[in-house]
Amino acid sequence: MVGGGLTGLAAAWEASRVPGLKVTLVEKETRLGGKVATASFPGGYLEKGPDSFLLREPGFVQFLKDLGLYSSLQEPETLAPLIRFGGRFHRLPEGLAGIAPWHRGYLRSSLLSLKGKAAVTRDLFLPPRGDAPWEDESFFDFASRHFGEEWAQRVVAPLYGGIYAGDAKELSTAALQPSWVKDEREEGSLIRAAQKRRQAGKAGPPFRTLPRGLQDLVKALEEDLVRRGVELRRGEEARSLDVLEGKVRLTTGKGLLFGDGVVLSLPAPQAGKLLETRAPRLARLLMGQAWVSSGALLFRITETEKRNALAGHPLFQGSGFLVPRGEGKVITGATVLSRKWPQLSRGAFHLRLFVGRRHEEEILSLPDDLLWERAWRELQRFAGPLPLPDEVLVSRFPLAFPQYRVGHGPWLEEVRREEGKWPWLFLAGTSYEGVAIPDAVRQGREAGQKVVRFLSGPPQPPSISKALDR
Ligand SMILES: Cc1cc2nc3c(=O)[nH]c(=O)nc-3n(C[C@H](O)[C@H](O)[C@H](O)COP(=O)(O)OP(=O)(O)OC[C@H]3O[C@@H](n4cnc5c(N)ncnc54)[C@H](O)[C@@H]3O)c2cc1C
Repeated sequence: MVGGGLTGLAAAWEASRVPGLKVTLVEKETRLGGKVATASFPGGYLEKGPDSFLLREPGFVQFLKDLGLYSSLQEPETLAPLIRFGGRFHRLPEGLAGIAPWHRGYLRSSLLSLKGKAAVTRDLFLPPRGDAPWEDESFFDFASRHFGEEWAQRVVAPLYGGIYAGDAKELSTAALQPSWVKDEREEGSLIRAAQKRRQAGKAGPPFRTLPRGLQDLVKALEEDLVRRGVELRRGEEARSLDVLEGKVRLTTGKGLLFGDGVVLSLPAPQAGKLLETRAPRLARLLMGQAWVSSGALLFRITETEKRNALAGHPLFQGSGFLVPRGEGKVITGATVLSRKWPQLSRGAFHLRLFVGRRHEEEILSLPDDLLWERAWRELQRFAGPLPLPDEVLVSRFPLAFPQYRVGHGPWLEEVRREEGKWPWLFLAGTSYEGVAIPDAVRQGREAGQKVVRFLSGPPQPPSISKALDR
């Protein structure tokens, strides 16, 4: 297994359930977990990357149960972000369920003009699409067709563009939001689909975290892997991959490793780098996937008077806020971690500001101290004078979010076709079939199962003849 983020850990966890199979995991950093990284402080925890996961997939729920984590899951205190528009902050329209409003509370929203509110009802006149052909569309186009451009611009673009640090005019509805497409096929109107779900007592899937943050998940996996004898090679970077005398050969910063199969659980451009010599066509495809860099600036305020001033500020009463394109220069969004997860930040006020998104990554070239100072200054422009934080942690993600643009589906098909030429190779992770934590775990586990099936099948030497794909 190459890559010790959640995808690689889940792949190793799955493969190591089979007795007698020797599993080795290579991770270039000295710690496991990849983007999942929790900082601990006396009495509290700060998430440098993800802070929660969605409990939607039964397989993921069972996985948490198998790891003994399910019963300790924690609920967020609030999930209501504000949206900046026209130089001030607004509440999300009331009754929002996913992309659609399920009741008419949105008519009271200060985020929309009268014309914008009127356009929302357009959705109610759309007939079910059934099996009629449909070409993938961007989030923006899809939402505009249903609810008008204003809803797309002021609600969908900040909320859903924000999740992927992407541009709502590029992101693929088919790849990232298949449930919107399903609702359109079955109901036509997404408002009606949302209302039916409400009537059936189905609220949206819940977000959860763990008592000491998401590091608990990494720790639980690591403990199981150690118990099952998986060799964890930390601080060792994989440099290239080849096949030699019937064996897969991985060249790392520390030497050579030989095996019968390999799972690459890395962002596609990094996986592509390893495959440049052996599978150049596949490598080119993988390296062509767009990713966005991002940074998380973590602010910790412990001094009582300052803490009270921030905790009482109107901007910090919800779970955070989103700053759409054109509304700010530095900050793209914020999480008020102390409000969202008060149990993780006892004795301190914890705030996280995000910087960097698609087409707006230059800000990340600033050194840490300038970056957080610029962000804090912008925050004061939004919020008025604020006391300086007691501690600041700058966390950077050079490959933070894959961009599933319109056309992701055909790209993926081609990747899978090329990957199929190398029976010993398994690509997994958030470049391919879903970008969130449950997707990483699902894809990692599937890759672990596939490698086991491959190794327990009839002997099949790694194919060298198929290497002539230049
Ligand atoms: C800021 C941020 C916030 C997020 N928030 C959420 C959230 O709240 N909820 C949610 O569900 N998802 C969230 N996500 C997405 C989530 O983090 C990912 O789905 C998940 O962590 C991906 O895991 P992974 O193992 O696929 O990738 P990674 O975590 O990127 O793991 C890849 C690993 O490979 C290692 N590696 C790379 N190259 C090599 C090499 N050559 N040799 C050896 N090792 C190598 C890396 O060091 C890394 O450890 C967020 C992501 C970011 C960036």
